[in-house]
Amino acid sequence: MKHLIGAHTFLRNGPSSAIEIAENLGFTAIQIFTKNNNQYFAKDLSEEEINNFKDKLKNSHIKFVVSHDSYLINLCSKDPQGLSKSRAAFIKELERCEQLGIPHLNFHPGAHGGMGEEDGLKLIAESLNYIHEKTKNFKVKSMLETTAGQGTALGYTFEQLRKIIDMVEDKDRMSVCIDTCHIFAAGYNIKDPKEYKKVIKEFDDIIGLERLQCIHMNDSKKECGSKIDRHEHIGKGFIGLEGFSNIMNDKKLERVPKILETPKGDDQKEDLENIKILLSLVNK
Ligand code: ZN
Ligand code: MN
Ligand code: MN
Repeated sequence: MKHLIGAHTFLRNGPSSAIEIAENLGFTAIQIFTKNNNQYFAKDLSEEEINNFKDKLKNSHIKFVVSHDSYLINLCSKDPQGLSKSRAAFIKELERCEQLGIPHLNFHPGAHGGMGEEDGLKLIAESLNYIHEKTKNFKVKSMLETTAGQGTALGYTFEQLRKIIDMVEDKDRMSVCIDTCHIFAAGYNIKDPKEYKKVIKEFDDIIGLERLQCIHMNDSKKECGSKIDRHEHIGKGFIGLEGFSNIMNDKKLERVPKILETPKGDDQKEDLENIKILLSLVNK
């Protein structure tokens, strides 16, 4: 199979449980939270859990793992306490990734909460510089995720991500994830084949495709430009099968792991259906 593909997979207990679940479902790429995503901190991983995770991963068909950080973290929080807590929590998340050998920590750049976009972008870069300084020699990259631009969320244009990367000192520590639902909601029309080509060219010109290390494959419940972040099953939303066919047949994106974040029940049967649909779009 050419495409590395899978879905966000929840833990039953430790991170190794997600590997087991994902392997049983036949995923070749996965995203996990390494802890409860609604909390800033968690107890440290045990040696046993770390070894378990690495063993199971090595003996699986999963070739790519990305971690998503806690939803509470905001690297441009207006509140000084919130900011220092976010930075500390981000460092802990990076440590967990480093221990587990996970190469990317995906995160939403941040919500400026009224301080203004330029100041927000600066503060995010400052936070990353502080964080990278505290985690020198770590291999794990900080993976900026594109956002829908809901509320005061930053990262809804490629230019904004570029600005952050420009202000980050250690650029080797930065990677980028495109979320299809988010960019579509932000106004990038990836449904139309011609527009799609322009969007990818724009990404390449502004950020560089070599930085693109993951794609979140989500259809959108809302229209292009709505700035509302609501994930839908593949083909059931406004991006539609046309939009996903553009991606699945784009040679430039073939190497990029593709991860679903679409609605699902405990058994993740919906993920299997969505993966089947995505693979069926690939032109023979
Ligand atoms: Zn996300
Ligand atoms: Mn996403
Ligand atoms: Mn989202």
